[in-house]
Amino acid sequence: MRNLLSFLLVAICFLTAEAQSDSSSAVRPPIIDIHVHTIPVNPAFSAPLCPWFLSDMPGADPNDQAPPFMNADCVDPLPAAANDAELQQAILDRIENMNLTLVAFGDSRILHNWVDAAPAGRILPGIGIDTRMPVADFRDSLRSGFYKVVAEVAPQYQGLSPSDTIFTPYFSVAEEFNIPVGIHMGTGGNGMANLTSPNFRASLGNPFLLEDMLARHPKLKIWVMHAGYPMVDELIALMGANAYVYLDISGFIWSYPLDEVHHVIQQLVRAGFGKRIMYGTDFLFWPRMIETSIGVVQNARYLSKDQKRDILYNNAARFFRLD
Ligand SMILES: [Zn+2]
Repeated sequence: MRNLLSFLLVAICFLTAEAQSDSSSAVRPPIIDIHVHTIPVNPAFSAPLCPWFLSDMPGADPNDQAPPFMNADCVDPLPAAANDAELQQAILDRIENMNLTLVAFGDSRILHNWVDAAPAGRILPGIGIDTRMPVADFRDSLRSGFYKVVAEVAPQYQGLSPSDTIFTPYFSVAEEFNIPVGIHMGTGGNGMANLTSPNFRASLGNPFLLEDMLARHPKLKIWVMHAGYPMVDELIALMGANAYVYLDISGFIWSYPLDEVHHVIQQLVRAGFGKRIMYGTDFLFWPRMIETSIGVVQNARYLSKDQKRDILYNNAARFFRLD
């Protein structure tokens, strides 16, 4: 009888454990998207988008009409959200259905709306560096505790190096509060300097330009946005010399030729940085851009299951010190 009882107890424990692992496997594994822009939807500028549209980067003549920056000439272009409310709902749905946590930054009104509407802790708000903002005000913003990251810092668009000393006092504040900083390096699409940002310089996206700044701020934690694409060799050298630097694969993941995207991710993993690659979208206002970009990682045949989990979640959880 005692034997039968112990058998039944063991069987019940086993079945309960099975049921628990069944119910937990029903929950989607968490994903952190560390590069989400909050911007107001402007229907005039939000045409449908073809992923990997930079597979064709034609030249143009300065005296002719400028080439289009994007195109919608593909089988299944991603539709843009029609307005701010639709965009917010699309984000909230994805946070819930895809078990997403976001690092989001940009327009402050939209950011606050999203944070208020989302479950606690699922949106980590970021603030950029605007050198017209007095450093004391920047310090107050970080001290408030609302902002968990400083991003997106994009000196390249202003024609400046990230090591330009104009940014030094701001980086010092981030260093003092132990807040990670995301810096745009590298990509700019086709004709950025001609079309929208005359001060943009390709050379100012070189990851080596971060070295002096890193030397000035030994306690600062940064991640290189867009993997500094296409200057990946330079980023690999920089990360070899600076063990606290991480990267994100946002932006180029949905815009540059897909074969090239895979080549870059594989190169970074092969070089030994699989624990420092973080998933990010560079989300703007095409909701399905999130699933499209996550799919690139999930479908990468050269990545193991563990490497995919690292890129989609574990590396960012470690970098941002999440539970
Ligand atoms: Zn960027």
